Amino acid sequence: MPHIVWTSAGGGAASVFNPAWHAFTGLPTQLPGAAAWLVALHPDEVTAATSAWEEARATEAQFERELRLRRADGVYRWHHIRCVPVKTPEGSVRWLGSATDIHERKTQEVRFELVVEGAGIGIWFCDLPVTTVTCNATYRQLYGLPAEALVTADVLFRAIHPDDLARANEAVRRAVEDQEPYLLDFRVVIGEGEKAQVRWLQATGRVFYDAHGRPERFDGITRDITAQRQLEESLRRTLIEKDESLRTLEVINATGQSLAAELQLEKLVQGVTDAATRLSKASFGAFFYNVLNEQGQSYMLYTLSGVPRETFDKFPMPRATRVFEPTFKGEGIIRSDDITRDPRYGHNPPYQGMPPGHLPVRSYLAVPVKSRSGEVLGGLFFGHPVPGVFTEREERLVAGLAAQAAVAMDNARLFQRAQEAITSRDTFLSIASHELRTPITSMKMQTQYMRKRIANNDPSAFLPERVTRLVEQTERSIGRLSRLVEDMLDISRIAIGRLNMQFERVELSALTREVVERFGPQLGEAGHTLELHLTPGLVGRWDRDRLEQVLANLLTNALKYAPGAALKVTTRTLGTSAILEVEDRGPGIAPKDQHRIFERFERLVDASQISGLGLGLHISKHIVEAHGGTIRVHSALGEGASFVVELPISGPSGQG
Ligand code: ADP
Repeated sequence: MPHIVWTSAGGGAASVFNPAWHAFTGLPTQLPGAAAWLVALHPDEVTAATSAWEEARATEAQFERELRLRRADGVYRWHHIRCVPVKTPEGSVRWLGSATDIHERKTQEVRFELVVEGAGIGIWFCDLPVTTVTCNATYRQLYGLPAEALVTADVLFRAIHPDDLARANEAVRRAVEDQEPYLLDFRVVIGEGEKAQVRWLQATGRVFYDAHGRPERFDGITRDITAQRQLEESLRRTLIEKDESLRTLEVINATGQSLAAELQLEKLVQGVTDAATRLSKASFGAFFYNVLNEQGQSYMLYTLSGVPRETFDKFPMPRATRVFEPTFKGEGIIRSDDITRDPRYGHNPPYQGMPPGHLPVRSYLAVPVKSRSGEVLGGLFFGHPVPGVFTEREERLVAGLAAQAAVAMDNARLFQRAQEAITSRDTFLSIASHELRTPITSMKMQTQYMRKRIANNDPSAFLPERVTRLVEQTERSIGRLSRLVEDMLDISRIAIGRLNMQFERVELSALTREVVERFGPQLGEAGHTLELHLTPGLVGRWDRDRLEQVLANLLTNALKYAPGAALKVTTRTLGTSAILEVEDRGPGIAPKDQHRIFERFERLVDASQISGLGLGLHISKHIVEAHGGTIRVHSALGEGASFVVELPISGPSGQG
């Protein structure tokens, strides 16, 4: 019920209020002018209310507003004010005013507004079908609209992110037509161009229907959920990363286990390449071994992952170019977002970059694989056609795997060596027992023969020639046995690095003559023609006995492998070195075997054909090297063989 009422006299000359007006405002019940009631308004509302009132008067339309009125004690209270124009029979207009105290409700409302604003909740109401939307200030802010803007369905839909538009339309349609609850998460784009900003909003609402079931109103709230979405997104990413890390761990773990168990080098390296390619998300990966060939140049064998081997077959092996070199030298990891932009790239002819048709590589990651001893076993290389694929994470993963691989490869190599050692030990044992048995058998047969003769009192057993022959044969067998035993001892000395040398002043040509003379009878027997070219005065600091051993080995080999062929022994100087050369015109040695014959137990013939342990040249090589010198062979099949020993005259370095 209105408690204050007033009326303006016709023509607006004065306003007359009821006593409630006076009781509330303390103002007189009669005031001049139809606008007299405005005097009690809150100063903040005077301007807006006055102009609205002026307009109502001019158009003679009803005026209705919620405004604050000042009480006599200065306290303002909210009132619902209504002024209704009434035409007098004389044709003038009188205004009937009323003010109802709505302070309690209004304060609740304002409080509610404040809470809603504080919570950042946008409130909206609209009639259906939607033309304009009534909303609070927060709602406008959410859409980035100016405070006074007219909010229409058009304006709202224009702000929605194009990707969410269809979904938003559908949600509204379902709410209105299917009576489904309206709940929509969507994006709005605020601002334009570079400054445009995307915000996530969540709208919840409800459609109200009239008595006939026709949709009438659509009201709801909207709030900003950008922060929540960001949190969700980062949580999702963290989960994905966690998941990835877990899978990575699994791969590493599985790889680690299989690496540890794998002793076959080839399989092991393939396993590492596969795992590392998977972990680094490379489109392909490769492992290149650092292998030295006989000429000491490094070349590479490889395993591949991610692409068929044919893809690489057409291309030359990577060489020590500026891109690859640091990896093969073990200088460190190279990671490039785009290798084609790397200053080290593209310097080498003939391609100045990648060979045509090469797999397109932009992202590049190369990690050296180093053994415990620091030796670079090879490198793991990864590529991807898209730039910037390999991050610190991939680098760390592959580096870890490379370290594991190095240990596993070390183990596999040790295992391989141990296997080779076992095999060669077995071979050696069978050859050695055969070799030892030959002289023993011959001595045994001689003694049995003698014993028989003696038992039969055969006087011919004691004939001087027979006894002499027996002694000579026994001596030869003993000589052979002791040489075998000496060789075996030397081998074990070499294995533990204790081939002791006694350096003294030695004249090489005299020593050569002496040894050759000692071999005279055997050479003569075998029908050799011997040429000696000795340069006198070749004096150096060497180990006499050991050099004799080397020369004896070379001569024995010539006797064994080139029987009856012409033989030439030469000594000469070459710079600061002395040269000793033993050249035969025998069957020769194929180039592919020339490296091998200096290795332990390596023989090119079968023990049943020509006896030997395959140790002579190996021991000779160690003796020569202990002098700081070298031993080489020049030969071709059918062309004879020439063994050249080069000895520094001053002896090994440090011997003066
Ligand atoms: P061994 O003579 O006991 O087999 P060596 O180490 O002295 O051991 O020689 C290794 C191998 O090198 C021999 O088995 C032989 O096949 C080959 N070889 C050595 N000297 C000659 C030579 N003058 N001509 C041809 N082959 C040779």
